[in-house]
Amino acid sequence: MIIYPWHNELWQQLIGMRSRMPHAVLLQGRMGIGKLDFAQALASALLCDRPLPDGHACGNCDSCNWYAQGNHPDLRVLEPEESATNGADEEATEGKSAKKSQIISVDQVRNLAEFLGLSSHRAGLRIVLLHPAEALNAASANALLKMLEEPPPEVLFVLVTHNPQRLLPTIRSRCNKIDMPFPERRLAEEWLAGQGIQHAAERLSYVGGAPLLALKVEEGAEKRLADLHRELHRGGRMDPFASVALCIKEGITYTVEALQKWTHDLLSAHLTGEIRYHALQAASLQELAKGVDLPKLLDFQRLLNEARRSSQHPLNAELQVESLMIQYTQLFATPTKP
Ligand SMILES: [Zn+2]
Repeated sequence: MIIYPWHNELWQQLIGMRSRMPHAVLLQGRMGIGKLDFAQALASALLCDRPLPDGHACGNCDSCNWYAQGNHPDLRVLEPEESATNGADEEATEGKSAKKSQIISVDQVRNLAEFLGLSSHRAGLRIVLLHPAEALNAASANALLKMLEEPPPEVLFVLVTHNPQRLLPTIRSRCNKIDMPFPERRLAEEWLAGQGIQHAAERLSYVGGAPLLALKVEEGAEKRLADLHRELHRGGRMDPFASVALCIKEGITYTVEALQKWTHDLLSAHLTGEIRYHALQAASLQELAKGVDLPKLLDFQRLLNEARRSSQHPLNAELQVESLMIQYTQLFATPTKP
């Protein structure tokens, strides 16, 4: 079980409370920092029969073996269920299959009742791990709330979220809220480098500093993104159709996000000279930003925001991306370098 270095201190604090855990904790923090890994390590450590001196699960006892096999009798994990039909209409546009549904259903929560009504398999703690908690809808959230209001003895609810404001306030108030630390940039870079990642600093910038998001960027995607950036650097002289070809396979969400980050840095370079996502390309972005038409850029950003909102169900992804790329080339009032 992994505890990332930026969570070590919190781990020590929390595991020190082993004998007096609250009945519900809400692990909240930004995406891509390892909240779920932390929750899983916590669950396995609390269930372990012979925890190690540092509080971690031993990895050898009956409990740890059940945990590893995914069939621990004193643990229930609630997450959005695999649903083949749910993502079917997105398959063509996003090029991915077997999507998860976005919802933890009321039936899933109600099915907990039996588990909560039983006494522990081993006369110890039982744990419900629920993630992401923002996947609860109104019905399932209310069903869960009833359980949190009358918590059975010896049960710990662990909720994980990167979007706490989307939870029912009454659920939040029933949980001990734990803010999961976001790593310092230097620590995140060191950790990524330790995972064998090159250009750790640039990757971190691009994903906003979250190390696990940076880790997930695969090399092919990095190369394709670099190709797209090379086109975008050409500003008004960019070939919109060549650019479409570089990103359409990744899907419209990916493309719009890449354009949002790019135009964020263009605007920021234009106004303040600062670059947030494309640190290695700062100099040429600042050069490009000199020729940008500010009102058009702001309009374009609004357009991207709209495209982002509707990107789950695009009418025609390729046409939409084409149109965006053409409009991008029109942002530049003065001719840019070829
Ligand atoms: Zn163990």
